[in-house]
Amino acid sequence: MSGAVPDLEAAVAEIVETLRHRVDRGEVASYIPELASADPRAFGIVVANADGSVVSGGASETPFSIQSISKVFTLTLALGKFGDRLWRRVGREPSGSPFNSVVQLEREQGIPRNPFINAGAIAVTDLILSGHQPREALGEILRFMQFLADDPSITIDRAVAASEHRTGFRNAALANYMKSFGVLDNPVNFTLGVYFHHCAIAMSCRQLAIAGRFLACDGKNPSTGFKVVPAERARRINALMLTCGHYDGSGEFAYRVGLPGKSGVGGGILAIAPGKASIAVWSPGLDANGNSHLGRTALEMLTAKMGWSIFKA
Ligand code: GLU
Repeated sequence: MSGAVPDLEAAVAEIVETLRHRVDRGEVASYIPELASADPRAFGIVVANADGSVVSGGASETPFSIQSISKVFTLTLALGKFGDRLWRRVGREPSGSPFNSVVQLEREQGIPRNPFINAGAIAVTDLILSGHQPREALGEILRFMQFLADDPSITIDRAVAASEHRTGFRNAALANYMKSFGVLDNPVNFTLGVYFHHCAIAMSCRQLAIAGRFLACDGKNPSTGFKVVPAERARRINALMLTCGHYDGSGEFAYRVGLPGKSGVGGGILAIAPGKASIAVWSPGLDANGNSHLGRTALEMLTAKMGWSIFKA
């Protein structure tokens, strides 16, 4: 029906119903032992619209481990503090490599390709930590998330953080490697502690979608009009999410979904339809690149139904 405005509530309901029956749900991440107990049948979706309205479906209120989605927010915070000086420590190019690759770091003298692969996010965390105790830096990150989501109840899942701290040998290797090139200023263990804890922030799809709204609204909170970042910075963060937000699956995500997005191994994805909505989806089963299998499928269905791809004329 050309010209008809697609019905968002119907689209979300149809996605929830269709995906409920899917048998192929991907594999739950187990390299962080505490994440392995997530229920692969879980699925939630929330669309926080630019006009302030919210449409939700499935387990939209269940908190999950946001993992790498936190990197969007630590980047936002660090850019606010350091501006373009941040780009001396980390690049802006897609990696085409797995999220925890060591090889690329060696070739590029300890400068991570982008702020969303693990090495890049660890370098960004190190900047936020500089001049502070780990507890203060972590408190600042958590308060920023609570402020953006307008929800002071958001917490860190300490069991997940401890689980990753015990087993995060690959991230420790990346951090030590960067330290040897002088890319990190703080003791490696402090930086890793803050990194593991911000990855372990637990949020529901509703909280996450609301926290991401400034990226869909030229840097402003649409409810209060408060400017979180300048419009140009919101555009640039979206550009990085599009090109680097899904590791070596970023091209496929752009091809299928057509929106800036950031995934986490907890099974969440935050996607931004500029000018329209901030969308959070969650399903713990992952594909081979470590991105939520049903989460991506849901976003692909949503953008097709709503005509929200940024590449649509
Ligand atoms: N904390 C996880 C790690 O560093 C984040 C990975 C992810 O969510 O993609 O391995």
